[in-house]
Amino acid sequence: MMGFDSPGFDLQEDDMDSAGFDLQDDSIDGGGGDGFQVSDAIDDQALHHDALSRCFGWGFVIVASLIAKFGKPRLQTLWLCKALLLSSCFSGIGALEVALAFVVSAVLRHGLECHIQTVSSCENVPLCRRLLSARNPSMHLFEDVLAHFPFAERVRGQDAKAIQTILGSHPVELTVPCSLHGRCFVREVHGDISGSPCTPFSSDGLRRGVRDPNIILFIAWCLLHRALGAILLVHENVLGFDDALLLDLLGASYDVFRIITEPAHVGFAVGSVQIYRI
Ligand SMILES: [Zn+2]
Repeated sequence: MMGFDSPGFDLQEDDMDSAGFDLQDDSIDGGGGDGFQVSDAIDDQALHHDALSRCFGWGFVIVASLIAKFGKPRLQTLWLCKALLLSSCFSGIGALEVALAFVVSAVLRHGLECHIQTVSSCENVPLCRRLLSARNPSMHLFEDVLAHFPFAERVRGQDAKAIQTILGSHPVELTVPCSLHGRCFVREVHGDISGSPCTPFSSDGLRRGVRDPNIILFIAWCLLHRALGAILLVHENVLGFDDALLLDLLGASYDVFRIITEPAHVGFAVGSVQIYRI
């Protein structure tokens, strides 16, 4: 299980105890109703008194809520018994990898087995790649999602439909530069969790949408995973993102579900809405 054993990440049970997280098994077994909310697992009073240390227990809140909803046996047999191979793109400093380590730690703490593994990340900023490789030297570290599309630089800046047509009409290159091994083959994964650049849709920018030059990165991400056939794609972006773009680019094989979350749902005492499409 990568991330959990990776350098710089060594959460021990004692650390979790000292963080003040006190969800007892008795309180979370036995299932929950359809109205169960993640925030139900949070002790509001403790949240305000020990917000900083408690917020790092968000992985336990997530896992506790899943156990409350499904029960341990069902969660183990339906969700956690099989290997789950994941990748990320636009990986930055590795938020996905760190978040998975928190979740895996919480799953193990609850006495469940877990086989989640991040097999590759993709990031075009060299400094970020150094951090990613230090955190997880055994994965593949691809450098640019556009490397999968030999014609990408020729069409960058063109109309989104033209980009989609041209990139989609050529075979996807699956052997691309990898910072750790030279050139590597992109293997099929079960899922990818990525947040494409928000500049085309953010209210802090010009909101040029599909006319923004960076839209090619989102198009490339969709076309790559459509070609690879990933079962699960999680895409994060801002409120102004148009869900129709995902349906258009991924095709009829995928359904899109929108999830709106706030940090307070898992214990963070700040207000910033996050939008995920699954
Ligand atoms: Zn590699």
